[in-house]
Amino acid sequence: MRSLFFEDVNRLGWRDMPMPRPQADHEAVVQTIAATACVVDNMVIKGVTPMEPPFALGHEAVGRVIDMGDAVTGLAIGDVVSIPNHRTCGSCRSCKNHDPLHCEQEDAPFPLLPAYGTPDAYGFGGMFSEAFRVPFASHALVKVPDTIDPLAAVAAGDTLTDAWQATVPHIRKTPEARVLITSNAGYGLYAAQWALAAGAVEVLYVDDDPTRMAVAKKIGATTLQWEEGLEVPPVYNVIVNERQGAEALRFCLLAAAHGAVVENVVIYLEDVPFPLFQMHFSGVTFRSSFCATRLYLPEVISELEAGTIDPRVVESEIFTLDDAPDRLLEQSHKPILLFDESLRAEPAS
Ligand SMILES: [Zn+2]
Ligand SMILES: [Zn+2]
Repeated sequence: MRSLFFEDVNRLGWRDMPMPRPQADHEAVVQTIAATACVVDNMVIKGVTPMEPPFALGHEAVGRVIDMGDAVTGLAIGDVVSIPNHRTCGSCRSCKNHDPLHCEQEDAPFPLLPAYGTPDAYGFGGMFSEAFRVPFASHALVKVPDTIDPLAAVAAGDTLTDAWQATVPHIRKTPEARVLITSNAGYGLYAAQWALAAGAVEVLYVDDDPTRMAVAKKIGATTLQWEEGLEVPPVYNVIVNERQGAEALRFCLLAAAHGAVVENVVIYLEDVPFPLFQMHFSGVTFRSSFCATRLYLPEVISELEAGTIDPRVVESEIFTLDDAPDRLLEQSHKPILLFDESLRAEPAS
């Protein structure tokens, strides 16, 4: 069984690992169909996080159940499943309190939540692996019906669902919502798709990458070139920041209409100033968090089943496992590592 390791800064490599087997009766083993990288992986690869190599990388994948313990219910061998990037038991105090990110069954040292693809003392490894274990599988795994293209669900365990929860619930509460998204990878494009599908009257997509901006236009968003010092009128009700740096955050906070919400979805490794004077007048709500994926995953899978959006238009490239160590260094906005070659096809775009 091959597993892709972060070996050193800007160096990835495949390692041969033992084939995982359930180590508890609540565990399942998932065989990876496809996986994808997000900004966190890119930060790890560039060596800008406190996460020291080596460790198995990857936390966004779609897979197939190939083995499970006796206590697993509601799943069958062969089921295609989405796997939350964080492990969650569903029954501890935190999980019952709708806080699966702080599931008390696991206690990984960094980044304060038990996620796949991080330095991890519990041996669950990363999802850029041909197979991996999932604890509390009856709760954690969400079935992907066979009417859904598995590649459409490849990011549902993290980015796609994160982008849903950062936009759709807010838009549903805001008639004629105007949405602003600063983007730096695939997340912002997913957010734009969800926002338009949820009925936002305007989605302004801000980026400096021509490829991503072309995708945003195709999706139906209005695009604006990002540059330092950029300003827009304070008319946006739902704002998603996926760009690092004090300037991007300030831009978002100053774009807030009265009562707006700003969702910061990217990790800042340094403190940044806040324009609190202006924020006091706009009454903006600011939130910065990882996504408690498991809470929203069933609804996202239902949306995919209904054809609400086609996430595959966001794919930047599809490559083989042999090419992955080099191609992932290029950090395109939503690369797909194809483990199941029978699904090979060009990006839907
Ligand atoms: Zn991710
Ligand atoms: Zn729990």
